[in-house]
Amino acid sequence: MNHLWGIDLGGTKIECAVLNADNIKEVRVRRRIPTEADQGYEHILNQIEKLVNQVIEELGERPERIGFATPGTLDPVTQTMRGCNTVVMNDQPMQKDLEARLGVSCLIANDANCFALAEALLGAAPEVYPKAQVVFGIIMGTGVGGGVVINGKVWGGRQGIGGEWGHIFLDESGGPCYCGNVGCVETVLSGPSLQRFYTQEAGEKRSMPDILARHQAGTDPAATATVERMLNQFGKALSIITNLLDPDVIVIGGGVSNIDLLYTEGVQRAQKHIFTPKPDVLVVKNVLGDSAGVFGAALL
Ligand SMILES: [Zn+2]
Repeated sequence: MNHLWGIDLGGTKIECAVLNADNIKEVRVRRRIPTEADQGYEHILNQIEKLVNQVIEELGERPERIGFATPGTLDPVTQTMRGCNTVVMNDQPMQKDLEARLGVSCLIANDANCFALAEALLGAAPEVYPKAQVVFGIIMGTGVGGGVVINGKVWGGRQGIGGEWGHIFLDESGGPCYCGNVGCVETVLSGPSLQRFYTQEAGEKRSMPDILARHQAGTDPAATATVERMLNQFGKALSIITNLLDPDVIVIGGGVSNIDLLYTEGVQRAQKHIFTPKPDVLVVKNVLGDSAGVFGAALL
């Protein structure tokens, strides 16, 4: 049987999934192992090799190639990793090292790109718009990322930064970003950034669900200011995607994607910035949850 192998390389766990190539909804094997990133880069490679050997044994078959979802990006020019929050991976020629270890060809893509690919082929997009050709995936969680899928393929771009919505300039008020720029989407719309704004306004810390509940109750002006700013800024950031790409479907993942107001009020606030009088922007919540990374890696 023809199989698709994918590995999601996370900061705490490494997960492998094998899909049936003839029916990509069928998961043949799924297994995980701790990353133990604190033990260094070589140890991560050891863990991956161990996991692959376990899956080979379980499936009774060796892979021909393996797709990897990683934090950060493989720089297409230098062929080394950059922007990984698992910092021991940065500056390493990871694709070459994996191929040497595993003896198979390896494809590497950023985890937001893998999320977008999985939701485009297996997740939200086929449910709401089966004819979708261009799908934009957004992850809004601890960080913010994005990925473009065109006709079932990730569009990584010339420098590997295609779809990096999280680091588009949005608003000075976000302040400095870890990437070195100021006011990136991530500094305004990530979970921690939203909470930080509330803390500035209210002088105390609260969880995001708590802030939303207080906004809905209408009893906390700082909560309402936080939610209003989030909706306005999300609308602005969404209009940039729409004016540039006009995708068929935009899928949102990550913890912040659970805020229902984004899909109603947030989308409405994008409209005044969009270059058509009656915008029709389809924005939906992910359906694959945490599985999107590993499935997307398999689909590479
Ligand atoms: Zn940034």
